[in-house]
Amino acid sequence: MSGAARYCVVGGGISGLVAAYRLRVAAGPDASITVLDPADRLGGILRTERLGGQLIDVGAEAFVARRPEVPALLGELGLSGKQITTTGARPLIYSEGRLHQLPKDTVNGIPSRPSELAGLVDDATVRRMLDEPRHPLSWRRGADPTVAELVGDRFGEQVVVRSVDPLLAGVYAGSAATIGLRAAAPTVAAALDDGAPSLTAAVAAALPPPRAGSVFGAIDGGYQVLLDELVRRSGLRWAQVSVRGVHQVAGGWEVVDDEDGRWPADAVVLAVPAPRLPALVEPLAPRTAAAARRIQVASAAVVALALPGGTPLPEQSGVLVAGRGRLHTKAVTLSSRKWGRRGSVELVRLSYGRFGDELARSTGDEDLLSWAAEDLQTLFGVSEEPVDSLVVRWIDAMPQYGPGHAALVAELRDGLPRGLAVAGAYLDGIGVPACVASATRAVAALLTVGR
Ligand SMILES: Cc1cc2nc3c(=O)[nH]c(=O)nc-3n(C[C@H](O)[C@H](O)[C@H](O)COP(=O)(O)OP(=O)(O)OC[C@H]3O[C@@H](n4cnc5c(N)ncnc54)[C@H](O)[C@@H]3O)c2cc1C
Repeated sequence: MSGAARYCVVGGGISGLVAAYRLRVAAGPDASITVLDPADRLGGILRTERLGGQLIDVGAEAFVARRPEVPALLGELGLSGKQITTTGARPLIYSEGRLHQLPKDTVNGIPSRPSELAGLVDDATVRRMLDEPRHPLSWRRGADPTVAELVGDRFGEQVVVRSVDPLLAGVYAGSAATIGLRAAAPTVAAALDDGAPSLTAAVAAALPPPRAGSVFGAIDGGYQVLLDELVRRSGLRWAQVSVRGVHQVAGGWEVVDDEDGRWPADAVVLAVPAPRLPALVEPLAPRTAAAARRIQVASAAVVALALPGGTPLPEQSGVLVAGRGRLHTKAVTLSSRKWGRRGSVELVRLSYGRFGDELARSTGDEDLLSWAAEDLQTLFGVSEEPVDSLVVRWIDAMPQYGPGHAALVAELRDGLPRGLAVAGAYLDGIGVPACVASATRAVAALLTVGR
């Protein structure tokens, strides 16, 4: 492609905005880059709000800092100085009515040392884990069972429910019964492929080497700082419309919006969530549409509270909840403890909704707020009235990475005609770093084809 190329990016979440920025870098100042998104602001699930006078992210709030993508992107944009790390406070697990320390040295909750789970699971389960290496493990290279199938079989149900599920509920709003091993714990699957004789040995081999520095990072001022810079550097034009189709026309593509507006493009990045993709690519790419339809999604609601300064919250970063028990929430983030306190309030986030339930969709704001008050009372015995609050819903926002997900995604990408590329959280990982990587890959694919 040469001259004044025209690109459309459908969807202005982090995946779409990174795609727009990468297109600008590659295509130069003359290219026209249009991002189409009907939302009231760009950023999708990245949203920074002011609560109790302080900034708080009410969608994603962190990124895995040990992956290269986000630190590298911040560096490229001159924002490295804005990267912050956690205070070192660790999360707790709430199980069977009690708070426990989060076990150390696990891969997404799959333990490498049984002693780390003592107290969280019963003694019989600890003995079973100790015994696990003595039982022959039959593993087919390339297999992708659900995490629950493998971990339940080797370590027992309590390890699944009390150690693995709370982590997977936090990341995917899913559970070990629905998430595939290769997505949740790719390094464990690789160690098993390489011949690890037991799950214990595979997890030990899969643990990342101990490294200094925080696992998680965030951005001073919230994700909005990154979004603003991506918008500025990409020089994008934002069309606040919903796209209903993409058609092939002579010399390229035409993106059609809900009001029948037509947007010509040489190439198009589709950066919408999986459930929105089929309507855009059918009948152009039936295999892609069919693959996207097979990706299931979960919804989540976030209740963000500003509690009065001095509310006696523990010096922990939050709580992950095992099972349902008395609590409604699946995870609590003690934001002011996790990232350091600012101002005179204690910021707290509580998440609601798991794959397969309707909580996020159907529970009213008043009910969610009163659940949050009850949950904080049950967990920490605090009953202080919030000075400010916000309820945000993320409907169908969290793709479930079931067994065989990688093959499904390969099929999805393979079915796309040249000149269309996909980016998003349902492809190569749900987190922000993986979204950044998927956008970079999408643009590379489009520009390689164009040469
Ligand atoms: C509550 C919650 C907490 C999370 N926490 C973290 C975290 O701490 N760390 C982390 O790394 N990840 C986290 N994630 C995951 C991460 O936030 C998301 O996976 C990521 O932000 C998704 O970005 P995206 O651009 O792919 O999709 P989205 O942000 O969903 O953006 C898609 C965009 O497409 C637009 N769109 C939809 N349909 C159309 C259409 N027809 N036409 C035009 N536009 C359309 C939407 O309006 C939206 O703006 C969290 C997710 C949730 C829900």
